[in-house]
Amino acid sequence: MRMSPMRALPILLCTLFLCAISTQAQLPPVKPAPLQPPAGGNTCSVANTCADIAPGMIRSAEGPSPLEENLRHLTDEIGGRVSGSPAAEKAAGWGVEAFRHAGVDEVHTEKFTMPTGWSEGRTHIEILSPGAFAVRAVAVGWSPATPDGGITANVVDAGAGDEAGFGKAGSAAKGAIVLVHQNFLITWDDLFEEYERAPGVIDRAVNAGAVAIFWMSTRPNLLLYRHTNSANGEIEKLPQATLAREDAERIARFLANNVPVQVHFEMPNKITGPVESENVVAEIRGREKPDEFVLLGAHLDSWELGTGALDNGCNAAMVIDAARVIHSTGTIPRRSIRFVLFTGEEQGMLGSAAYARAHRNELDQMDAAIIFDSGVGRVTGYSLSGRKDVAEAVKQALAPTQSLNANNITFDAEIGTDNFDFLLEGVPTLVANQEPANYMLNYHAASDTFDKVDIAELKNHVALAAIAAFGIADLPQRLGKRQSRAEIETLMKETGMDEQMKQMDLQKLWDDGIRGRER
Ligand SMILES: [Zn+2]
Repeated sequence: MRMSPMRALPILLCTLFLCAISTQAQLPPVKPAPLQPPAGGNTCSVANTCADIAPGMIRSAEGPSPLEENLRHLTDEIGGRVSGSPAAEKAAGWGVEAFRHAGVDEVHTEKFTMPTGWSEGRTHIEILSPGAFAVRAVAVGWSPATPDGGITANVVDAGAGDEAGFGKAGSAAKGAIVLVHQNFLITWDDLFEEYERAPGVIDRAVNAGAVAIFWMSTRPNLLLYRHTNSANGEIEKLPQATLAREDAERIARFLANNVPVQVHFEMPNKITGPVESENVVAEIRGREKPDEFVLLGAHLDSWELGTGALDNGCNAAMVIDAARVIHSTGTIPRRSIRFVLFTGEEQGMLGSAAYARAHRNELDQMDAAIIFDSGVGRVTGYSLSGRKDVAEAVKQALAPTQSLNANNITFDAEIGTDNFDFLLEGVPTLVANQEPANYMLNYHAASDTFDKVDIAELKNHVALAAIAAFGIADLPQRLGKRQSRAEIETLMKETGMDEQMKQMDLQKLWDDGIRGRER
């Protein structure tokens, strides 16, 4: 999951960036450094600043590396990895092994409990009238199952699922399955709107007495995808399926012509009680203030219709390679860097929430969370989620990458990835802003596979992430202060995050002290 609006940059910048990269690509790869720092402590020169070692980090990132093979293994051999599933457990093992090879000082996993486990059964829709035709559909993640024997019901068109749509459907929605139309997913804003709209649609369906929801796919050509509409890993209120766009449109045309459509709908999702999931946590210890740390993270879990390559396997592999690149410099930053692969992200950022909670005692020493979660679109810079107070220090830390034109800072705050709970704890966060590239079409879809990943671009991101993490960890001063609960509330209002939280059923988790800073 990731839904940040894209800030368009002049095409000139893209051109400059490509020039910069092609120049670097001609540089010879650096000789790999020994796996461990030399015995006898820090022989690296303390005078080696981030600016000194940045060119070497760029060469190491762009040169031969295990990045591509690591990602191929994760996506092709382990595949889609829904949190709590056997594949997710294998993926955690993959992460531990890959971090070890990267040369980190320490790696381990940290378990947390998700409220429910979920997997899809054999979802099936049969058209009983006006006559059989194939309807391709998948369960919405964390949707309840249909009752034993399935549901036989009329389908009623609820338009966009807004008040007008349900008003038009009227009493016919009672006992029926409501069909909800959706626009094509093209932009970050479309994606964001899809998530924000869903809880209201579901509430209206419940109030209208509907028995299930059919969502029209936002993608063309029968492409199916899965995500959840629930905010905190809970099972949804109504059975919901996503229907292939063409099949949903066909049903809608019958209804528009006053031809009733009756279906038999079976969706025997398997739902369990609480399940364990685990984050993978690696560390390079700092030389001066090892208890202070910067976190570089990406989520490791994915949906399983595809193999979670763009969302977010590529960035999980990228974080591991950033650790390798930093280690390869032989230079140790002032503060520690923690590299974290979160799980439970797709169910509502549950792994990062668990991490923030488990490490609450350390958050005063946490300088920043840097999160990547937008596929392989070119990085344009970072969103600081309203933290204008840290902008100057961030620019200082990112200065060695100035020539790469990837340092545009924005202050928008969007809910949708693993920076969220750190933001709610008052810790400064950086979320990579990226061009959409091929992210939207393949988002959570059956087509999100290894072949969609631009490895050359991903290597650029390794360099950017490594330098950002090292740069912040090595600043002479702290990046910024940890905000109090009152300051975080002000930030929420200033950025409009409060409204997003209300729409996505997250506000009550903050109000009730379930997520976020206590005082
Ligand atoms: Zn994601």
